[in-house]
Amino acid sequence: MRASVRPLWLKYERRGACIHPPTRGSTEGEKMSDWSAKNPYDSTVTVNFVLNGEGSRKETRHIVFDLGDSGMEYKAGDALGVIPVTSSDLVEDVIVALGANPDEMVDTHAGQMTLQDALSNHYEIHQANRKFVSSIGEKFAPKGGACEIRIVKRQRVMVDSGTPTIDWSWSGDEDDYPEGFTPTVASTDPAQELWESLNSDDKAMEDYLWGRDYIDVLNDFGHLGFSGQDFVDQIDRLKPRLYSIASSPDFEPGTVHLTVGIVRYEGQGRAKTGLTTGYLADRVPEGTTGVRVFMSPTRSFVLPEDGKKDMIMVGPGTGIAPFRAFLQQRKADAAEGRNWLFFGDWTEAGEYLYRDEISAYVEDGTLDKLDLAWSREGPEKVYVQHLMANHATEIWNWIDNGGYFYVCGDKNYMAKDVHTTLINICAEHGQMSEDEAKEFVEQTLMREEKRYLRDVY
Ligand SMILES: Cc1cc2nc3c(=O)[nH]c(=O)nc-3n(C[C@H](O)[C@H](O)[C@H](O)COP(=O)(O)OP(=O)(O)OC[C@H]3O[C@@H](n4cnc5c(N)ncnc54)[C@H](O)[C@@H]3O)c2cc1C
Repeated sequence: MRASVRPLWLKYERRGACIHPPTRGSTEGEKMSDWSAKNPYDSTVTVNFVLNGEGSRKETRHIVFDLGDSGMEYKAGDALGVIPVTSSDLVEDVIVALGANPDEMVDTHAGQMTLQDALSNHYEIHQANRKFVSSIGEKFAPKGGACEIRIVKRQRVMVDSGTPTIDWSWSGDEDDYPEGFTPTVASTDPAQELWESLNSDDKAMEDYLWGRDYIDVLNDFGHLGFSGQDFVDQIDRLKPRLYSIASSPDFEPGTVHLTVGIVRYEGQGRAKTGLTTGYLADRVPEGTTGVRVFMSPTRSFVLPEDGKKDMIMVGPGTGIAPFRAFLQQRKADAAEGRNWLFFGDWTEAGEYLYRDEISAYVEDGTLDKLDLAWSREGPEKVYVQHLMANHATEIWNWIDNGGYFYVCGDKNYMAKDVHTTLINICAEHGQMSEDEAKEFVEQTLMREEKRYLRDVY
């Protein structure tokens, strides 16, 4: 394997934009430990483009952050924390829906600031939370305060003669009503009915919250009146999001590369985005400064210390990110161990991320084996775990020989299926019972030898 540190940005295929090489930061400046989620570094985004092919229904971006003179350091396997800024349109609309003043001062966990600053930088208003919706109950009249109106006397007299035709008085019995009258439940504010239906049913609350932002919630409940302070006291604080770093510092010095799957969906008839992915896709074009980031180092998802060890990497979709970093690092280190990548997504034309780089790694021998699974091509859905099963003997041989097994990407489906497939492979080819194979994978490989490593989300 040849050691080369030629930056691969030269190879990027881009849709509709020219390539700018990343700027290089010096190693001076504050120490790495000075930057954190509470004290993020203001980086510059130097590259931001869509990796997908024309016609893809996914939007996966390659984004490069210049570390400038931050002195920030990282290793392949680490993650970058990004602190997003909420869209100014959403902030403005929520302030209007509250009937508040953007300049009013509010007390927050980060000190006193204007409502506008709080909603832009310190709270999550793109996704309503249970705490706020539950707290709305205080705005309605309490149950004990509900009033009952009852007919206690009813009289009717003839206009001309004054003779009474009806003269009814309530007996005091619960069920005593004048003839022709039936009890009825007084109509309440529909917002109260909605709130009661949500508050009494967890599933209904979950369904209501899914995909609703505070514009939606204030449409339903805003007339009850919330001050800016009431509002920030109940809503979620803004949380940074982590992204597996897709570069090696030796290969791409002074920069951090990410592979980001943009979350877009429609909710309540409006186009919406995930907070951070919407920020990175729509509000951080190339050249944007002041993009707040910090390092989130890993102690577990690391390359083998011994470069002679073989590595199997399973990373479909954005799960490719840390493996791009690993391959760059193995190449920079001239590591002798073999590398095997399982990648996949919907279609080869639309979602084969980093195709040129991966092909170049196959050509120059950095990648010894490559298996690609496309789930929306051809009559059958092919996933990475199916390809693993096809290569069961060889996977077992690599593992039995001391190889490492890495998984990155979707936690809910992919990682579970890959886990089960790995156990089956070990059972079949390692001559183990199912229980022994489970113990071998989950205890020996994962915990004791730390050769089965996962970065799943
Ligand atoms: C260690 C680690 C590494 C990671 N690495 C990567 C990586 O390399 N690349 C990557 O892309 N991501 C990665 N992630 C995930 C990333 O951190 C974010 O969770 C992801 O980008 C979404 O963030 P967001 O702020 O855009 O979305 P959020 O604002 O958090 O929005 C997600 C929410 O949007 C709502 N939503 C989503 N879809 C719909 C829908 N169809 N209808 C209604 N509501 C919907 C849901 O409420 C969902 O919870 C990683 C996570 C971890 C923990």
